[in-house]
Amino acid sequence: MRYLSTRGHPDRRHFCEILLEGLAPDGGLYLPERYPQVDAPTLERWRKLPYAELAFEVLSLYIDDIAPADLRALCAKTYTEEVFGTEDIVPLRELEDGVYLEALSNGPTLAFKDMAMQLLGNLFEYELARRGEELNILGATSGDTGSAAEYAMRGKKGVRVFMTSPDGRMSPFQQAQMFSLQDPNIHNLAIEGVFDDCQDIVKAVSNDLEFKRKYKIGTVNSINWARLLAQVVYYFAGYFQATGSNDQKVSFTVPSGNFGNVCAGHVARMMGLPIHQLVVATNENDVLDEFFRTGVYRVRGAADTHETSSPSMDISKASNFERFVFDLLGRDAAKTRALFEGELGKSGRFDLSADPAFANAATRFGFVSSRSTHADRIATIRDTDKRFATLIDTHTADGLKVAREHLSPGVPMIILETALPIKFAASIVEALGHEPDRPERFIGIEALPKRVMRLPKDVDAVKRYISQHCD
Ligand SMILES: *Cc1c(COP(=O)(O)O)cnc(C)c1O
Repeated sequence: MRYLSTRGHPDRRHFCEILLEGLAPDGGLYLPERYPQVDAPTLERWRKLPYAELAFEVLSLYIDDIAPADLRALCAKTYTEEVFGTEDIVPLRELEDGVYLEALSNGPTLAFKDMAMQLLGNLFEYELARRGEELNILGATSGDTGSAAEYAMRGKKGVRVFMTSPDGRMSPFQQAQMFSLQDPNIHNLAIEGVFDDCQDIVKAVSNDLEFKRKYKIGTVNSINWARLLAQVVYYFAGYFQATGSNDQKVSFTVPSGNFGNVCAGHVARMMGLPIHQLVVATNENDVLDEFFRTGVYRVRGAADTHETSSPSMDISKASNFERFVFDLLGRDAAKTRALFEGELGKSGRFDLSADPAFANAATRFGFVSSRSTHADRIATIRDTDKRFATLIDTHTADGLKVAREHLSPGVPMIILETALPIKFAASIVEALGHEPDRPERFIGIEALPKRVMRLPKDVDAVKRYISQHCD
């Protein structure tokens, strides 16, 4: 299996060659040359597998440059009851008739990003050892992604993490989660500024190519193909739990931001998993809902990007969306490039409403969408607590609200639970008048000793810190 760029670069690369990379050299995103097809007997065999084995089966269709025994061992080491809390790893629970929640957020940082990031940590360690190389991951976070990366990379050989965050602006719980890590390869850099300042610093450091090469700077952002691939597995796992046989279809609703999670669902569907619909749920930041309703993709400016109570979905553009558009356009790389480089660069929008490819997108690719608001989230959290004695977080609430608008008789609907309520306690208090329960291992973490370096909003200060901590 080899990988191509959505913008038509002639190179074809193997999995491990793109594992440590972000964008393709022409600015496109990597996709497999074709989607391996999973037939009925294979589905039947996979149905009975434990999660780690299922992960191995899915991954092996896309990875031919890691020895199967090694890949199997990496999956077994990643998806354990110890790390993810249950033997099922992603247990399904029926909320009401035919409506299910798939629990993806019982990993170390209580959000679904652990599902992919934990595997990435093990893959990075494996590949870096094989190459005899090191990698310094530099990132900016306002909470979720940074902690998932740190918990995935802590203690890993060959990897250091330098994670910038806006000083004093994360919740006390998020700060405690990240800053209590004492592993010497994890560096928390609290920048005296806002999240955008952190992102600007990361960009400036990465644009200094000499520094980047000398200190082997890399990232773990959501466009990484390995992250997306790891997420394909739980669509299969959810399907098997909701159905008794492989002639049934299910739908998934996915609380979406950068389109990474639901793009993994698209890949699963392209492989032949019997998915009826992929329902994209957005909050007030409805770039994606607008596209699927109208065919117009319009990137938002900072002033048009709302700060909401489901903050991990607060995006102005969806960084993985180009992957789907490439497939939608029949894998026409020239056309994809013209849209994302040409039109988007020029006017911040493109319009496919008159394109025949868009007209039958829903039937061909199963995509539909809706949006949800703060009032919807609060009402849904309250209703779910009252009727089903189940506490859900704000992102999952967006999903559940939207899912109910797309139910079809006889088709199970699986909503992906993307975080636990404790991460967004203020909204739970608003909805229910009390704090959510806290998993035992997080009780009292705010009081633990913190390991964090406060730095000014200054590129050179960050570079100096990195250079002093790279040996
Ligand atoms: C990252 C995140 C999302 C959005 O996922 P995408 O892959 O960016 O679409 C939704 N909910 C939570 C809790 C997240 O952390």
